[in-house]
Amino acid sequence: MNRRFSTKAVHGGEDRHKAYDSITTPITQTSTFVFSHTDDIKKYTSKELVRFEYGRYGNPTQRAAEKKLAQLENAKDALLFSSGMSAITTTFLGLLSAGDHLVLTDDAYKKTLDFCITCLPKFGIESTVVKMGDYEAIENAIKDNTRIFFSESPTNPYLNIMDLDRIVDIARQHNLLVISDSTFATPYNQQPLDFGVDIVIHSATKYLGGHNDLLAGVVLGGEELVEKVREFSKMMGGVIDPHGSYLLIRGLKTFEIRMKRLNQSGLQVARFLEKHPKVERVYYPGLESHAQYDIAKRQMRGFGCVVTFIIKGNDETASRFLNRLKLCYIGPSFGGVETLITHPASMTYYDYSREEREGLGILDTLMRLSVGIEDVDDIIEDLSQALEEVTND
Ligand SMILES: *Cc1c(COP(=O)(O)O)cnc(C)c1O
Repeated sequence: MNRRFSTKAVHGGEDRHKAYDSITTPITQTSTFVFSHTDDIKKYTSKELVRFEYGRYGNPTQRAAEKKLAQLENAKDALLFSSGMSAITTTFLGLLSAGDHLVLTDDAYKKTLDFCITCLPKFGIESTVVKMGDYEAIENAIKDNTRIFFSESPTNPYLNIMDLDRIVDIARQHNLLVISDSTFATPYNQQPLDFGVDIVIHSATKYLGGHNDLLAGVVLGGEELVEKVREFSKMMGGVIDPHGSYLLIRGLKTFEIRMKRLNQSGLQVARFLEKHPKVERVYYPGLESHAQYDIAKRQMRGFGCVVTFIIKGNDETASRFLNRLKLCYIGPSFGGVETLITHPASMTYYDYSREEREGLGILDTLMRLSVGIEDVDDIIEDLSQALEEVTND
């Protein structure tokens, strides 16, 4: 039955009749699953009997969460991991071999870039990093041994948008797999598989879990590709635990109502900041001033809760602004119920020199705000009183 989005968020992937007539999917807190007869072992190993065997190979709570996510993303199958990075690294290592080549964009998640540049070469896999938005550079970077094009959309922290139609078109001509880290978009706002993207990855730590209380990652796509990653993951072992799987199921129940609220509040806060005299510039794909607003509007339903902005002043002004916040927490991550603000220059890029940071566009006055589900007027009031610390010159 093809149910609508919110119904899938509540019921998708879960059995209607569960153990002990429980309404919730039980947390099957076990590392091993026992056989009552040797005949069952034979049936299981010959795939005649579908069941569980050992925790690293799957768990019923995990499987329910995977099926729910697959329904929400319009995917045939899904595989959960202990973190977003585990999902990304296992997928790349599982699908690539020595001698293969990968193309990715320069504003990819920092640890993903690190992995491609410093770790994949140990396995004989080379990467070319191209400028986000430069489609010609992508075409020029493709070689005979290129297997994968990888990008995010929107990206971090400037929320650049990848034109999915265009990238799928290029990839088809060159026989590449397209993998998209869609963490900033969420399956509510964008469904890359419908554009022809082959694999979607999310850090479920962010919007999907949604409550800042869990780490998880998910790989979604066609059955064959996901199965290939699943087989490989059995070796890598980055499994999500049953309790984490349950937290994800629980968080997803309210996914649609959270997203509606976050999209609405995100846009409202972006508009407030754009008009504020102490704010130099705002980056939000839902603002007409965003460089790829037209593409974002075409391929996304909403634009999420992350608003990136540059305040006037210098690093001291930035500290004063941050220290005066009373409601917004200072910390990494986004997409949760609490409003969080990240200062990329002193957090993500603390180990770069100022020159290196500025080369990447990470100014001392750059802020990445993740608007929560609190009353948006309280969030705006908090930002407003903290912006009084910013001098106007
Ligand atoms: C957070 C994040 C990751 C890593 O996910 P973890 O769950 O923290 O391992 C990967 N990609 C993007 C875009 C992210 O925001």
